[in-house]
Amino acid sequence: MPDYSARWLAPRPVTVVSAAPLGQGASTAWAQGGIAAAVAEGDSAEAHAADTVAAGAGLVDESIALGLAREAGARVRDLLHYGVPFDRDLEGKLAVGREAAHSARRIVHVRGDMAGMAIMTALIEAVRGTPSIRVIEGYAAEALLMEDGAVGGLQLRHIGDDTARPVTIASRAVVLATGGIGHLYAVTTNPAEASGLGLAIAARAGAAIEDPEFVQFHPTAIMAGRDPAPLATEALRGEGATLINDRGERFMQALHPLAELAPRDIVARGVFAEIAAGRGVFLDATRALGAHFAEKFPTVHASCLAAGIDPATQPIPVAPAAHYHMGGISVDRHGRSSIEGLWAGGEVSCTGAHGANRLASNSLLEAVVYAARIAEDIAGCASATPARLSPASISQQNHPIPALLEARLRKTMTSHVGVIRDGDGLAEAVRAFADIERECSNVALRNMATTALLVAASAWSRHESRGAHYRTDWPLEKPALAQRTMTTLATAREIAASLTEDAAPRNPQPMIA
Ligand SMILES: Cc1cc2nc3c(=O)[nH]c(=O)nc-3n(C[C@H](O)[C@H](O)[C@H](O)COP(=O)(O)OP(=O)(O)OC[C@H]3O[C@@H](n4cnc5c(N)ncnc54)[C@H](O)[C@@H]3O)c2cc1C
Repeated sequence: MPDYSARWLAPRPVTVVSAAPLGQGASTAWAQGGIAAAVAEGDSAEAHAADTVAAGAGLVDESIALGLAREAGARVRDLLHYGVPFDRDLEGKLAVGREAAHSARRIVHVRGDMAGMAIMTALIEAVRGTPSIRVIEGYAAEALLMEDGAVGGLQLRHIGDDTARPVTIASRAVVLATGGIGHLYAVTTNPAEASGLGLAIAARAGAAIEDPEFVQFHPTAIMAGRDPAPLATEALRGEGATLINDRGERFMQALHPLAELAPRDIVARGVFAEIAAGRGVFLDATRALGAHFAEKFPTVHASCLAAGIDPATQPIPVAPAAHYHMGGISVDRHGRSSIEGLWAGGEVSCTGAHGANRLASNSLLEAVVYAARIAEDIAGCASATPARLSPASISQQNHPIPALLEARLRKTMTSHVGVIRDGDGLAEAVRAFADIERECSNVALRNMATTALLVAASAWSRHESRGAHYRTDWPLEKPALAQRTMTTLATAREIAASLTEDAAPRNPQPMIA
């Protein structure tokens, strides 16, 4: 996403900062499905938008969904121009695949499951070949530097050297494109860099945050002792693989008429409930695929073998994993946040396109559409006066990250702010994250706690179940609550204070957009 915007802005000077070397530590490179785009004959942007709205459980902004769907074709053409080798059919037209909850075949892909890597490779090559783009790798952004209520720059710190002096960059236009929050959870499919730092940085500067409670969980991550956990793709269940518990029982048949092929959030809840009841869960492909496993699913096969499991003859141990954040920094249709000089794009942002549940392969689409819009917006309103930073705005203090506290935060997110939630567990999580947020002397962990607090406090405040947000104490969707959450860090802290002060909380609510 930053690579795309930076390339678009050339020849204007742009600095790209990345915590990991470009191409590493990014969910984009791991995307296996592709990009949703209504480019096939008989399909339409309207049909794509309707599917997006249906998936989002009443919270998708219909005009935003339609705008995304309409711009998809143009953005796919841009990527072709950058050299992304999307698969084509025998007539040379873009080949399109089908994914869950899409009413048409509309996923453009590269060599089957290589779309993300191909997009990253092409964009990185374009960025490295553009003289106006400076790339700083191995530095994490840790704070926005504010001047007179607007963005004046960014504070960075070298990865792996917590006590090093921070580095500052003065700039009147900052784009946060730091990805998701999966690594706030103990079990996730996301890279370690997806730890919610960008969202925290914006929130700490006062930005409005939207829908943070909505986190999508993938039902079948492979439990092979790896962090992040590799995916056992949904296509395995499409091929007939079944979910069983450690007694060999197929538990999904009792939960939904479609059993293992039920919607993603329902399967995730079924798997989570079995695990919470002390029964292990396995994906059994021994009968459905057997000896054909390696040839049909080479990536999953390799992940299993690395963990000492032969999926042709043995069931694969699985668990739900944090996969995608629907919420984020609230932005308008140009990617502008509520803070002057701050834009956000990709998974760290909340545009209103996903509502309470993301439709498969819409996230890469959203990232490229907003990358282009943000670049156009910045080009159109670039300030002539260079930013100046007063030394007072820079905080030097930092201490090494307390690893045990980080592990506790991630465990609390998985157990209390995960697939199945309830008021007591959420309140406990809110109090724990508020303590870390207030007292931790390591900036990265404090930022992680800031984002965790926003997610937990908004989940505590939403007294219903909707989309990916499920509460046992409020198990039904309430029509009166079909509104997006608009909140701030100040509100989240107020909720934490009320939960800490007394047993009967004052019940401060985030604003509803
Ligand atoms: C396994 C997997 C498969 C997926 N498959 C698909 C799919 O098929 N189709 C689809 O549409 N979506 C898919 N998704 C979701 C999609 O990949 C992501 O939502 C999307 O790639 C996010 O792009 P991004 O640019 O916002 O973030 P990323 O691609 O994650 O990039 C974020 C960048 O920010 C850097 N960073 C993070 N914090 C900081 C900081 N503080 N300072 C500096 N740099 C920082 C990171 O190092 C990284 O380079 C998948 C996700 C996963 C995990």
